[in-house]
Amino acid sequence: MSRAIFNHLQKTASDPAAAHVWLDLRPIPPETIRHRFPNIIQVCRRWGVDLFQEPIPVAPAAHYWMGGITADTLSRTTISSLYAVGETTSTGVHGANRLASNSLLECLVFGAQLAVLEVSQASEPPPSRSMARTLELTALISPIQAQMQDWRQEVARLMWQSAGICREQEVLEQAITQVEMWQHDLAALPLSQTLMQIMQSTDRYSWQITGSETVQALRDWGELRNLLDIAALILKSAAFRTESRGGHYRSDFPVTDPNWQVHTVIEAQTWQRSAPLLD
Ligand SMILES: Cc1cc2nc3c(=O)[nH]c(=O)nc-3n(C[C@H](O)[C@H](O)[C@H](O)COP(=O)(O)OP(=O)(O)OC[C@H]3O[C@@H](n4cnc5c(N)ncnc54)[C@H](O)[C@@H]3O)c2cc1C
Repeated sequence: MSRAIFNHLQKTASDPAAAHVWLDLRPIPPETIRHRFPNIIQVCRRWGVDLFQEPIPVAPAAHYWMGGITADTLSRTTISSLYAVGETTSTGVHGANRLASNSLLECLVFGAQLAVLEVSQASEPPPSRSMARTLELTALISPIQAQMQDWRQEVARLMWQSAGICREQEVLEQAITQVEMWQHDLAALPLSQTLMQIMQSTDRYSWQITGSETVQALRDWGELRNLLDIAALILKSAAFRTESRGGHYRSDFPVTDPNWQVHTVIEAQTWQRSAPLLD
């Protein structure tokens, strides 16, 4: 159904990413609606929509990403002492498409398990801040704040259009080129150059950043950088898998291929297939 709505909006809407179709619940008896969908009634009311009288504007949305940091069923990653739990992980419990409500279940089960983990003594002492020096970044941040916000919105739009519900090689390749261009432009900013130099220096823990606006801007910068990295990983993985399976639908490879019953494993810049998975 999502694919049908997506394709319809691509053909008919001037801005498909912001467009919607109508969901008409009126053929369903009002009593049934009240009994089955009390939350939907509330949400619609909050947005000024009376679903007993009029259709509801709807559009598909991503609400989970399969895949993530490789972790085993004890939440261990491939980096010693680093654990990962929840939507950020790829433990294999969801297969190629997460079934409804299994995500929160996963968070509870793996979270509870990690809470009783016996942690060994930390081998490195915490970084000392006794020689703190203040870093003044306002002059580097102000000129690029609007640009960073634009990029953030654009990357979301690009990902929805090219790696959301329907994917195909040419579109994915164009999106990869675009994301790599943004990564390059972001890295070339004087702010990025300064921060990268600090991050690579041995005295990186001695720097201190003050001012809530500066801290927020740095958080935005870090998130944008991470979003672009994740976008590149998703796009390249979608281009790598030349079949359709679960939540991954390729309009140019619409059929599930048994040879692809594997995980995509990415290490540094290398994409590989895992050993075949059992049914
Ligand atoms: C609209 C919608 C409906 C859904 N419905 C269901 C459902 O019905 N059933 C179900 O099982 N699942 C559902 N899901 C999926 C489920 O909600 C998520 O998979 C789950 O909440 C993920 O939990 P998490 O703790 O792994 O990640 P999150 O809840 O995303 O938590 C990650 C936290 O880390 C914080 N964070 C991020 N970066 C940093 C950083 N650099 N430093 C510090 N903190 C940081 C974030 O602010 C966030 O609080 C739904 C998702 C959406 C979007």
